[in-house]
Amino acid sequence: MSISENIESVRNIVKATAKACGRNPEDIKIIAVSKTKPVSMMKEATDAGMCEFGENRPQEIVRKYPEFEDENIKWHLIGQLQKNKVRHIIDKAELIHSVDSYDLALEINKRAELIDKVQDILIQVNISGEETKSGVSEKKCVELCKKISDLENVRIIGLMTISVFDYSYDENKELFLKLKALSEKIADMNIKNVFMKELSMGMTHDYKEAIEAGATMLRIGTGIFGFRE
Ligand SMILES: *Cc1c(COP(=O)(O)O)cnc(C)c1O
Repeated sequence: MSISENIESVRNIVKATAKACGRNPEDIKIIAVSKTKPVSMMKEATDAGMCEFGENRPQEIVRKYPEFEDENIKWHLIGQLQKNKVRHIIDKAELIHSVDSYDLALEINKRAELIDKVQDILIQVNISGEETKSGVSEKKCVELCKKISDLENVRIIGLMTISVFDYSYDENKELFLKLKALSEKIADMNIKNVFMKELSMGMTHDYKEAIEAGATMLRIGTGIFGFRE
């Protein structure tokens, strides 16, 4: 299947899944995860109307960014971000999905202030508690949100999580529902400058259960661009 056919198929599944659980498909954004994939394939995606791209390496955003003139193209940093890389992407990232420490938020704040930007971020939460996963623990998430809320050039707009590779449908859904519950709990605390409008969860193999659990952003790579090396 071609990239445009893949996109069409993902869109149809998103629509059908959303409708089946009483959600508006318009509330669910598909982010095409283009990591390791060439610009030529990304252009096929933009031709099919895709304008949100996810990358997990800052250097790859830096390299691909100048290849796109259309200012409607949005870049999402979804992978681990080292503090010394923040300055390279601060003027390019629409949203940073992977903030899991105050130190990182502080660096983002500093770099954003220098270019007069308020950088939208998500807090990455390690809901599963698996040791290998990055993200702040569920327990420490509230505290981290409160601390970051004092930074003027960073704005938390939601939470992000990655499920566990070999989880079943039910296990994924339970995990995603936990993230949803956490975001509702934080929203109820009315922390100034902290907004819980986005839930970035769901990848190629688990985005249906993510939609059912309330995802507003799906990060789909393989399902759009095919397998990676
Ligand atoms: C690679 C990646 C994805 C996309 O994974 P697929 O299984 O190819 O859809 C989503 N989120 C993150 C954080 C990733 O690193």
